[in-house]
Amino acid sequence: MATRKVDVAIIGAGTAGLTAYNAARKHTDNLLLIEGSHYGTTCARVGCMPSKLLIAAAESAHDAANTGLFGIQVGKIVVNGEKVLERVRKERNKFVESVLATVDAIPSAHKLVGRVRFISPGRLAVGEGIEIKAGRIVIATGSSPTIPDMFQGLGQTAAGE
Ligand SMILES: Cc1cc2nc3c(=O)[nH]c(=O)nc-3n(C[C@H](O)[C@H](O)[C@H](O)COP(=O)(O)OP(=O)(O)OC[C@H]3O[C@@H](n4cnc5c(N)ncnc54)[C@H](O)[C@@H]3O)c2cc1C
Repeated sequence: MATRKVDVAIIGAGTAGLTAYNAARKHTDNLLLIEGSHYGTTCARVGCMPSKLLIAAAESAHDAANTGLFGIQVGKIVVNGEKVLERVRKERNKFVESVLATVDAIPSAHKLVGRVRFISPGRLAVGEGIEIKAGRIVIATGSSPTIPDMFQGLGQTAAGE
């Protein structure tokens, strides 16, 4: 197993991990940001950003359906779900691209892709082949939802999201 020694290892390149990376880099150049899945952050890829875009569309439809209060008459409100999601995905992709540009700007020597597990205090295994010895370790692995049994059978959408 290849071994690398760093001052700081950050597990997870989400919003918290990227922030930790920027903070740690002010103190050392010998650091590593390790991501086990996709770059781009939960917030931009599937969390805050797309959900707020969807809510904005719903609010827009709600406003359009309630103009009568102001003495304004509009025609029948039609919500085109396909178009709504098309916009959500387009805008979401812009947010993700901006995060990916930030990740691209991080020197490749500071990045590693692979699932991390602790071997012992201060020692990490990344995938099967790499061991990291770190003076400091930041755990920025986010969280994952618990899916109640009643929703287990629902699976993914056609878009796989
Ligand atoms: C639908 C939805 C809507 C949301 N809306 C809002 C909102 O409006 N406002 C708000 O403030 N927050 C919102 N959130 C919450 C917000 O997205 C999270 O709080 C935030 O993304 C957490 O950032 P993080 O860096 O802790 O985790 P993440 O961005 O999830 O990053 C964790 C990273 O760690 C990696 N990782 C995990 N385990 C390992 C491992 N063992 N080895 C290597 N890498 C690993 C993961 O692959 C991931 O990339 C929302 C979340 C969801 C799901």
